[in-house]
Amino acid sequence: MAYFGSFAQFRIWANTMSQTDAPASPHVSASTIVGLSAETMYDKCMALAGNLWWSWHPEVINLFRDLDPIRWRQLDHNPIALLKEFTPERLEMRAAELVLYSRINHAYRRLKEYVSEIPLWGRTNAGVLGSKPVAYFSLEFGVHEAVPIYSGGLGVLSGDHIKSASGLGVPLVAIGLFYDQGYFKQHLDMTGWQQEEYLDTKVENLPMEPARGADGEPITVEIQTRTGRLLAKVWLMRVGRVRLYLLDCDVDGNSPEDRELTSRLYGGDTRTRIRQELVAGVGGVRALRALGISPGVYHLNEGHSAFATLEAIRERMKEDGRSFDESLREVAQCTVFTTHTPVPAGHDRFNAALIEEHLGPLRDELGISPEQLMSLGRVEPKNEHETFCMTVLGLKLSRRANAVSAIHGHVSRRMWAHLWPWRVEEEIPIGHITNGVHIPSWLAWQMQQLYDRQFPPDWHNRLGEPQIWQGIHNVDPGELWETHHALKNLLLAFVRRRVSRQCRRRGESDDAVEAARGMLDPNVLTIGFARRFATYKRADLVLRDLDRLDALVNDADRPIQIIFAGKAHPADQGGKELIQKIANLRFDPRYANRIAFVEDYDINVCRHLVQGVDVWLNNPRRPLEASGTSGEKAVLNGALNLSILDGWWAEAYDGGNGFAIGRGRSHVRDAETDARDAEYLFKALEEEVVPLYYDRDIDGLPRHWIKRMMNSISSLAWRFSSHRMVADYVLHSYLPAAGGLSVDMNIY
Ligand SMILES: *Cc1c(COP(=O)(O)O)cnc(C)c1O
Repeated sequence: MAYFGSFAQFRIWANTMSQTDAPASPHVSASTIVGLSAETMYDKCMALAGNLWWSWHPEVINLFRDLDPIRWRQLDHNPIALLKEFTPERLEMRAAELVLYSRINHAYRRLKEYVSEIPLWGRTNAGVLGSKPVAYFSLEFGVHEAVPIYSGGLGVLSGDHIKSASGLGVPLVAIGLFYDQGYFKQHLDMTGWQQEEYLDTKVENLPMEPARGADGEPITVEIQTRTGRLLAKVWLMRVGRVRLYLLDCDVDGNSPEDRELTSRLYGGDTRTRIRQELVAGVGGVRALRALGISPGVYHLNEGHSAFATLEAIRERMKEDGRSFDESLREVAQCTVFTTHTPVPAGHDRFNAALIEEHLGPLRDELGISPEQLMSLGRVEPKNEHETFCMTVLGLKLSRRANAVSAIHGHVSRRMWAHLWPWRVEEEIPIGHITNGVHIPSWLAWQMQQLYDRQFPPDWHNRLGEPQIWQGIHNVDPGELWETHHALKNLLLAFVRRRVSRQCRRRGESDDAVEAARGMLDPNVLTIGFARRFATYKRADLVLRDLDRLDALVNDADRPIQIIFAGKAHPADQGGKELIQKIANLRFDPRYANRIAFVEDYDINVCRHLVQGVDVWLNNPRRPLEASGTSGEKAVLNGALNLSILDGWWAEAYDGGNGFAIGRGRSHVRDAETDARDAEYLFKALEEEVVPLYYDRDIDGLPRHWIKRMMNSISSLAWRFSSHRMVADYVLHSYLPAAGGLSVDMNIY
């Protein structure tokens, strides 16, 4: 996994993290980052809501919730929307009633301190990036459910990446698009078929403001195409110490059609897609220039933003008068590319006409021919039948590329070997950095309280240190189990509430609504399965033998129950059929009370699930899961993973920290693989998972299960954290890219 060359190297990193923070860096002032000067309680609350720092600080979240718990839930946990329902006077009264003053003041002071300090790790290890930060490009960012500009794993990863960059003090700015309708809201109709609904997000309720240039004026970027001009304005969103810039085409001067260009994530056809990618990549680099930011490193998170490299080349040619080839080499030297897709069909491709329409004017300035441009996106440069692939552009225009787990590294090297026909597979320059998750965002508050009592007092600043997590073995097993149970009860209450609401909206009978209110049982082994409903993820693997499932679910002494959630892409019929199949199990009396489908999977639903289930199930068709991160979130909260040995789990599982499905092999024929894996899944459930869970001592505690929970937490939490991941990127990608060092690719 990590490409800390050795454990010792990691220790050096970990130890620097534990030293105390030094004084503020002179160029960051709190008021510029918080964005408001705060006088009153109301101002302070607004300042807190104005930086997404609050989203990983439970004490601030609790503060907002306490202001009005019901509205907080109804408003999707959006503090700005909540505060707008208060007048300053009413807020003052409410604060007095609840004695909130000291909590508000304390939180506000902590935010001010946070944004004005650069942590030691960043100063020590990433200081050279200070004046030339990393520019991190991604087409989605999942920071919090109240900011719906993500669809799933890729977006949540970007969100966790920038949160950890903020936490470690890595100089980094992020660039993406603002989708005012976001991804879709999911609900199911009476037949269990997915319906998509797009909502208009109210910009004024989001923690964003227009990004301004040196002259104080809001920035607009302009991109010429062969068929007209595209304009985009730029928003600034604050995520702790990181600035996230979001481009938005809804501006005067664009045609009515183009004003909608950035309305939806993954909406529209190939032409919409290339235009979005043009705005994010080329527009993104122009926005940075207008902001006076000159990046030392470009990090392309997935190929979507790879047009950025072409604009960066143009910039260099213009400024330094260099040739195209020289500038290309320079840009590639400081570009880092992360690929996420092990499926060939998953890579964006555009035909020559679309490329010429959208990149023609830029190509003129680069002084290259249409064929030369096309060749940058082709595996075989002169093959006229080959379309332009964004991943190929990313690979060709970056000196350093990486996949997102060890297995995915192998798959990617094999998949792209023909780009380097003169090299053997091991020498294909694609390494891997395994994905991780942002611990403060995904760890339940109750669990955190428990850790607080057993871990060293400064553990929050030492999340990446293995020895910190050994503290879990000092926790009283009964107390760990009790805390887990409290969280499980919260999850079940959440699921019942959501499922009964779903029934009511579909117009089902009062009896059905009432039955949903009583479904699921806290004493039953509870399995969670939630992810995108892509067919390769095989949500229905456990449904392949309904009688065997029946026997498991309805066992008199040792039953199981399963909670499902997930969206299918609007165009994915196969995915929607899977959802239908699972959702309609509720009409089968054998499963009605024990299998639930929660609609509209998002960060909020994910958080509830990973914090409350006993087992997190993941059964993709190997090796198609690039990494997967939801299981890493489950680890933090004491859930045990039951997973195919694919993605992150292949390098995480050690025999005693969770459960494996199968032995990490796959058959050439999918049908054969699926049949075998289903057998392995049932066997694991029947022979390992269920017996271990129900093996209780005289106090009713499953001692061996709890031991496994502790092993999981101590061996995995630090390794699969996004702090470790970002540190890997800094030490092995960003610094070499910024310094122009030529690093031997074998370190990957
Ligand atoms: C974490 C997360 C994901 C990614 O989970 P996988 O394990 O990669 O499927 C997807 N969607 C949401 C909302 C998440 O929070």
